[in-house]
Amino acid sequence: MTKKVRVRFAPSPTGELHVGNIRTALFDWAYARHTGGSFIFRIEDTDTERVTPEYIQAAINTLKWLGLDWDEGPEVGGPHGPYLQSQRLDKYAEWAAKFLAQGDAYHCYCSSEELEAVREAQRKANVAPGYNGHCRNLTDDEIVAFKADGRKPVLRMRMPEGSTTFTDLIRGDVTFEHQFVPDFVLARNDGSPLYTLAVAVDDVLMDVTHVLRGEDLLSSTPRQLRVYDAMGVKPEDYPLFAHLPFVMGQDNAKLSKRNGETSIAWYRDAGYLPEAICNYLALLGWSPGEDRENVTMKELTELFTVERVHSSPARFDMKKLEAINGDKIRALTLESFFEWSMPFLTKSGVATESATDIALVKRALPIIQERITTLSEIPALLNFLFVKDFAIEAESAAKITDEASKQVLTISSERLAGLATSGTWDHASIEAVLRTALIEELGLKPRIAFSALRIAVTGSHISPPLFESMELLGAEKSLARIRGAI
Ligand code: GLU
Repeated sequence: MTKKVRVRFAPSPTGELHVGNIRTALFDWAYARHTGGSFIFRIEDTDTERVTPEYIQAAINTLKWLGLDWDEGPEVGGPHGPYLQSQRLDKYAEWAAKFLAQGDAYHCYCSSEELEAVREAQRKANVAPGYNGHCRNLTDDEIVAFKADGRKPVLRMRMPEGSTTFTDLIRGDVTFEHQFVPDFVLARNDGSPLYTLAVAVDDVLMDVTHVLRGEDLLSSTPRQLRVYDAMGVKPEDYPLFAHLPFVMGQDNAKLSKRNGETSIAWYRDAGYLPEAICNYLALLGWSPGEDRENVTMKELTELFTVERVHSSPARFDMKKLEAINGDKIRALTLESFFEWSMPFLTKSGVATESATDIALVKRALPIIQERITTLSEIPALLNFLFVKDFAIEAESAAKITDEASKQVLTISSERLAGLATSGTWDHASIEAVLRTALIEELGLKPRIAFSALRIAVTGSHISPPLFESMELLGAEKSLARIRGAI
């Protein structure tokens, strides 16, 4: 009988989660959902100096915001908890003691100066750096002497001679020669566990069946397999590994703060929708096939298989993310577009939660939904409707100081005043009146005729469609602004 799939996302939140973390979380989640398995969220917070409660909470919030719901983990609990490693220290200590008793691990008394001297010698001799096995076979007398010296030992795992081969679901067979995998530290001299001990113990205790994670962790795999072995797990029961390709920046160097925005919080604040972020990140190393680029979360879970993950690095492409975000914004219902927009409008001070403002926002949103790529563009585009002290941007004002502009504005103001008193102030009537006056009668080019009006009415040469903008603004304000500009 095949085991039910259990995949885990196990970040060490030493900062805001970044693009690489979330790509991993997304693939873990999609794989669990695709297979009907469980998605486990485990916080690896044994590095107490760098992981803070704030970063842990931020990680939890980010996953929630993205819609990556977990079946076991912080806040929801589960049968294998606790899911914070800092609350599981007794388990690591118990296994560490067992490894020592079994002879799989040993106490190492080397000081950091001695270890540094070994590394220095290795560098000089041009051999691979790593522990030289000094304390592997200490005699009782040597141990007594170290203790008398007041030295406190770390716990090291004994790597046998030979090599480790495992089948990576993305890369195929991967072999590590143990001469390059020296005996490694499991616990510090205060007994606290290191990553390799905690991660492997937890993957076993939490019955994890699949480890999908970044390629940067590939080299730690032979050490983890060694820990499974010491725990008495049979090779056929080891979790299966799939190492996801690196995410590179535009310049083909590994994506980092230096060559691209990496923090997911930044994308949220810049007005990217969670669905767009997930859709885009899904394409970093995976593809739905048939040249498709747009997938919903539901389609992602239906289509996601590890076989479709490539091993070659993926390149982060901001333009593609923007395009996908624009698509997702256009696909929103008006009601949810409104829900997403309001925080951007209120935070920037453009609109308030008052009934009048909300009504105007709801009328205005349809005219910009087709045009934007991020939600953060909304305040600047709609500001002209709400602003109390209207003024034309200096750069735009300079464009309408000529005689032709003055003529356009003067004639428009006369004709629109007529429309305001006798007709209906809607975008179709406004357009008809202005086309007759400016294009047909004066023979102007539309671009020239309407750009002066756009600047006069919205204060900027970049705005939502002109006639719709004037309809929303109302006759009184539109006319006052045109007259003000003249
Ligand atoms: N906690 C590790 C990290 O954030 C990842 C653990 C794993 O996926 O094996 O780098």
